[in-house]
Amino acid sequence: MSDKHIDAVKTVKHAQKRECEECVKIGARWVHLRTCQECGGTRCCDSSPNKHATAPFHATAHPIVRSFEPGEDWFWCYADGVAFEVDGVEPAPSHS
Ligand SMILES: [Zn+2]
Ligand SMILES: [Zn+2]
Repeated sequence: MSDKHIDAVKTVKHAQKRECEECVKIGARWVHLRTCQECGGTRCCDSSPNKHATAPFHATAHPIVRSFEPGEDWFWCYADGVAFEVDGVEPAPSHS
C-alpha cells in the first residue's frame, strides 16, 4: 500500500512529551495523542474534546500523524483517510 503523504515521511518523529501541546496551553484534557510527522508536534485525537490533531491547519497541511499510545505504531493520513503500519518507514535513530 502506498500513499504520497506517507511516502514523504523518511524518518519517524517521536513525541517529546506525553501531552497535547495545545491542550496544556488552555488547561484542557485529551484522550489519545498523535504525533505530527511534519512538524513533530503532539496533539490530541478525535476522541478528545478539542481534536487538536485534526484542527483545520493540521489536517490539511500536515496530514500524517503517528499514534502515541502504548503498543500502537501505526500512522494515519488525514488527507486520504487511510492507516499505515510502520513497515517501509525507517524508525528514527535512537539517542541515548
Ligand atoms: Zn489537544
Ligand atoms: Zn504539524
